[in-house]
Amino acid sequence: MKCQPTASHFINGQYVEDTAGDVIECVYPATGEVVAKVHSATPAIVDQAISAAQSAQKEWAKLSGTERGRVLKRAAEIMRERNHALSELETYDTGKPMQETLYVDATSGADALEYFGGLAGSLTGEHIPLGEDWVYTKRIPLGVCVGIGAWNYPTQIACWKGAPAMACGNSMIFKPSETTPLCALKVAEILMEAGAPAGLYNVVQGYGDVGGALVTDERVDKVSLTGSAATGKKVYAAAAAGMKHVTMELGGKSPLIIFDDASLEDAIGGAMLGNFYSTGQVCSNGTRVFVQKGIKDAFLKRLKERTEAIKLGDPLDEDTQFGPMVSRNQRDIVMGFVERGKAEGATLVTGGNAIDGDGFYIEPTVFADVTDDMTIAREEIFGPVMSVFEFETEEEVIARANDTDLGLAGGVFTNDIKRAHRVIDLMDAGTCFINSYNDAPVEAPFGGVKGSGVGRENSKAAIEHYSQLKTVYVRMGPVDSPY
Ligand code: NAD
Repeated sequence: MKCQPTASHFINGQYVEDTAGDVIECVYPATGEVVAKVHSATPAIVDQAISAAQSAQKEWAKLSGTERGRVLKRAAEIMRERNHALSELETYDTGKPMQETLYVDATSGADALEYFGGLAGSLTGEHIPLGEDWVYTKRIPLGVCVGIGAWNYPTQIACWKGAPAMACGNSMIFKPSETTPLCALKVAEILMEAGAPAGLYNVVQGYGDVGGALVTDERVDKVSLTGSAATGKKVYAAAAAGMKHVTMELGGKSPLIIFDDASLEDAIGGAMLGNFYSTGQVCSNGTRVFVQKGIKDAFLKRLKERTEAIKLGDPLDEDTQFGPMVSRNQRDIVMGFVERGKAEGATLVTGGNAIDGDGFYIEPTVFADVTDDMTIAREEIFGPVMSVFEFETEEEVIARANDTDLGLAGGVFTNDIKRAHRVIDLMDAGTCFINSYNDAPVEAPFGGVKGSGVGRENSKAAIEHYSQLKTVYVRMGPVDSPY
């Protein structure tokens, strides 16, 4: 098999197998071919991973931040050197075209390792003078962290969670999505090569039950999930029962508002990026595109032309712009939404078909005349389906944009600078864009409000979620006790 790893899990610095676990087939989404098989973790494997992470963490936390950072930065360099091979594996794992994976997967993973490696040496507490006494605070690790990934960005998610955790002196057990189990193993291998101690970064495979076993183990101190809002509620509740720290990066139904003074080509480019990149499988996508009445017809005409010119095809061909859905199941879910859209009266502008063959392809799809109560307007589709809504006034569109339980992202296209900031200020969203969409540099906090999650990934903000403060009061004079 093309992508078969040495073994299913990576624990305590080496590949580990336990064939007693259920078989998970890794299917290449472009052809339906099985490219690898791994086994789901048994309770013995989960226990082994947690024990390894626990002992590695104690030693790792004793290193200086600069020493820890050096390992992460070396890992970033190795990832960049191997970008081509890692991108190919990402393409086999997810079906995303090489035109994307070469630029945004291992590279953004390396960015996170480099950025948090750079920060590791400057994670300090503060000194608080109180007359002759004083307080100092120390920034200390949380302990053993569990990362649970979604299937859309397996390398990036493994690094976005691992890099800040390790920079702060924690260890990590990462459970990739069962749909994309391969890439995180390479991240673990590279970290070992870069000098990480055995047990610092472990990977265990499995479905939700394995995630559940990790979340409820009392030796685990923190859980960071990237997944759907429904899974987030379950994982958050399970973590709360053990009073664990959490980061929840969940789904969205984000609005993209386009005013009639916007540059039409830029706005269309932003809307296409925010709906069709990674075949629409991006949590922060701007799937509700509100277009002001005056430019709606011109917008739709040009959007249709540009969408129909998208080059769909073999993801390994670097000219291909648009690959298949990650799995047959996800394709069927998305096609179900397309059918609901048609049945509930939205106008199909282009696309709307699954493509015959063994791969899981769907055409990039645009619906117009979508109303706020339609299923495609309310539920996260997680596929290449753009819904276009018409609006007239700023006040009206803000109210409609915020009428959702989710709040991951949002964007506005306008050339009126005051309006841009006014609209963004009123938008219920954690990650916003002005005249752009879906940029996610490691320097900027990323995350949602409302049902889209808690905590932030990336940037200095992530440090808050992978460390805690110890406060120390120091008295210089006598203790004034009434007893
Ligand atoms: P999912 O919720 O089905 O699964 C996510 C992960 O959780 C998987 O690894 C799964 O095995 C695990 N899991 C499931 N049940 C669990 C349980 N009870 N306990 C512990 N772990 C459990 O999500 P998915 O289908 O893999 O990914 C798509 C979803 O992820 C979308 O909703 C998307 O918006 C969201 N997502 C969010 C972000 C973000 O950063 N906000 C990024 C990518 C994807």
